[in-house]
Amino acid sequence: MEQRKGRRLILFPLPFQGHINPMLELANILYRKGFSITIIHTNFNSLNPSTHPHFTFHSISDNLSESEAADKDILLLLSNLNAKCCEPFRECLATLLSNVTEEPVACLICDPLFDFTQSVADSLKLPRILLRTGGASSTAVYSSFPLLREKGYIPKQDSRLEEPVTELSPLRVKDLPMINSSEPERFYKLVRALSYDTKDSYGFIFNTFEDLEQHALATIRKEFHIPIFPIGPFHKYFPAASSSSTSLLSQDQSCISWLNTQPPKSVIYVSFGSIAAVNEAQFLEIAWALASSKQLFLWVVRPGLVHGSEWLEPLPSGFLESLNGMGQIVKWAPQKEVLAHQAVGVFWTHNGWNSTLESICEGVPMICIPFSADQMVNARYVSDVWKIGLRLELGINRGEIDRAIRRLMIEKEGQAIRGRVSKLKDMANLCLKQGGSSYQSLDGLVNHILSLEF
Ligand code: UDP
Repeated sequence: MEQRKGRRLILFPLPFQGHINPMLELANILYRKGFSITIIHTNFNSLNPSTHPHFTFHSISDNLSESEAADKDILLLLSNLNAKCCEPFRECLATLLSNVTEEPVACLICDPLFDFTQSVADSLKLPRILLRTGGASSTAVYSSFPLLREKGYIPKQDSRLEEPVTELSPLRVKDLPMINSSEPERFYKLVRALSYDTKDSYGFIFNTFEDLEQHALATIRKEFHIPIFPIGPFHKYFPAASSSSTSLLSQDQSCISWLNTQPPKSVIYVSFGSIAAVNEAQFLEIAWALASSKQLFLWVVRPGLVHGSEWLEPLPSGFLESLNGMGQIVKWAPQKEVLAHQAVGVFWTHNGWNSTLESICEGVPMICIPFSADQMVNARYVSDVWKIGLRLELGINRGEIDRAIRRLMIEKEGQAIRGRVSKLKDMANLCLKQGGSSYQSLDGLVNHILSLEF
């Protein structure tokens, strides 16, 4: 723990699991660097202050109706959050800044997807720094959207999905990070928030490291003209167990006891994150693929994973019994601990950025089934750039899943892939050590924050 800096930072996470985790990890990193921390959070997916007693928490009302809060259309939900949080956030921030009994506030650190925060920060003359919770490679792709539109790659046409995007090799048209919406303008607003609109901020923090995304980081530095701080992987600054407390769902620890009884690298861990959902037919295809693989598996079936079902109801009766202890199903796992467990051999993932990075940090090869947005880019990088996993090109298809499991768990190819991801794991560890790229970038960030005039 470094000496207190006499400066407070206000952090405002976007209220989704994949955004909350890295923002709270960043808060811990900066607290350890000597800053005091205040977190503003919404009622929606509210945080539990008792998990971080060293921070000050302020909750704002987001005024979402019950049906708005339950909306599965993520772009609509985001648009409602942006419309309804602006005023409550402005009031909360103004009150915090007028409090002269606390240390002076150096800056606001927020998620670029809260797009109103720049104008609020400007009106209160508070510097705003952004945390990008996705990777640098997908961010660089978002910044190419004007070119991609000009060249006719987007909107995507079904007949061109397998074509290469020559300007962004090795991406194919199907890998472009889109989210389907009845109102495409909502999506393009999000793209601008992640690219063009960042230019007014005082800097961009990334949960990544130079050796992993050097090329994309160079592109971003050239195009964004603001200081860029790749200081990840955030979760490796702390011991695994200490970071579990930002989970919105309770983590089922029983799977760790089960893993303890399994041989090294024998288990396929399956999880598609906090938002992705499948239909009943896809769910059954996954279930049969796992059962027929004859490999051990730990499968996270989040309530709501299957459209229209509460939990496991679509499974045929007798399915669970037929597994004979080969498989475990939980509602939510302590994922970082699971990936760090010696029994886990492969991660079948949707390639959300946190999951991708967590897998790399533990040297676990991936089977990739991206659903939307930046997951498409992350999956292509895993399979074709870093070559540390296999992307399912046919979607959720039992035959292809079966082949991917064999290639990774049984065949020689799996060893080569494991070797490459192991090297990246070593690089991830090294970059945090004194003199490493993230270590230095974090020092740069701290000095940058201390130099901000308020
Ligand atoms: N996660 C978890 N338990 C689970 C599944 C996921 O703790 O059973 C965590 C995971 O470690 C990661 C986050 O939830 O930090 C998911 O973020 P990601 O970016 O991978 O995907 P998203 O949920 O945003 O689609």
